[in-house]
Amino acid sequence: MVARPSFRSAGDRCELFVAATVRPMSSQLPVALVTGGSRGIGEVVVRRLAGAGYVVAAAARSAQELASVAAATGATAVVLDVTDAAAVSAAVGRVEAELGPIDLLVNNAGVAGPGALTWQVDPRSWWQVFEVNVLGAFLCCRAVLPAMTARGVGRIVNVSSNAAFFRVDDAPPTGIGSAYMASKAALVRFTEAVASEVAGSGVSAFSISPGTVKTGMTREVFAEEWDDEQFWASPELTADLVEFLGTGALDALSGRYLHARNDRWRLFAEQTDQIRADDLLALRLRQHDGGGRS
Ligand code: NAP
Repeated sequence: MVARPSFRSAGDRCELFVAATVRPMSSQLPVALVTGGSRGIGEVVVRRLAGAGYVVAAAARSAQELASVAAATGATAVVLDVTDAAAVSAAVGRVEAELGPIDLLVNNAGVAGPGALTWQVDPRSWWQVFEVNVLGAFLCCRAVLPAMTARGVGRIVNVSSNAAFFRVDDAPPTGIGSAYMASKAALVRFTEAVASEVAGSGVSAFSISPGTVKTGMTREVFAEEWDDEQFWASPELTADLVEFLGTGALDALSGRYLHARNDRWRLFAEQTDQIRADDLLALRLRQHDGGGRS
């Protein structure tokens, strides 16, 4: 297996810290950048895309975890905090220069944050969830979109969550805090906004939900369900969906939200006109008519 280079990104610098062979720029292989690629769902997506023929850059903060993913998959490790604007620009520039133009960006890096009640949460930890889940995705989109729109090619997949949508009624969802729910809803709307900005340019953007997946993020919140295999969605479903979106099969649904487990998204390729006409798979308000005519 060809060893990939690793980048350590810091501020506006981005140093190569493991010397290795770089993909020749003439290569026709598509390039994917997956944030949060060091473990959990992101690691599975990295593995899948590498197996599907992508040249993959996997980004996260933990150099050690990234190094093992890189060794196992042939991906390039990019040590990066997605909340650091200068580091994100430098890392994307370096990936483009060393591996080639980015065809697929998967904004998967995310944190669950505090599960405590809103009035008991430290404001900095609450806002940190937005910094990773929303600002991080924005910074990565901002960094890749100039080249994607210039080339007229590119896809962005923002990993949101059903936490953006599920009903809570009067019962607070145990362990899932207001920051997480609000940040994932913001990511869905952000995705639709970006999709509208790039419409017609050859670039598309999607938000997705993986379902509930057994990872470090869910270990505490779903401790009681840990041994109930029916409860969990396989991370391979997310990898399936990301790979499918990468083919362009659902480009006509750019801006919409897809659930890896609950949606029969393979069939959507034949139903795009109907989905658009009915305005499905989007964040919308169901208005109340007041119960009578005004
Ligand atoms: P995980 O196992 O905790 O992995 C999170 C990943 O994000 C790690 O690679 C982590 O690496 C990276 N990350 C966190 N903060 C970062 C930062 N500031 N900069 C760069 N990378 C950062 O979580 P997961 O369950 O795989 O979740 C992946 C995504 O799916 C998240 O967006 C999550 O919200 C979403 N999701 C998960 C579930 C689920 O059931 N697991 C359900 C719905 C949605 P470092 O810590 O090394 O940076």
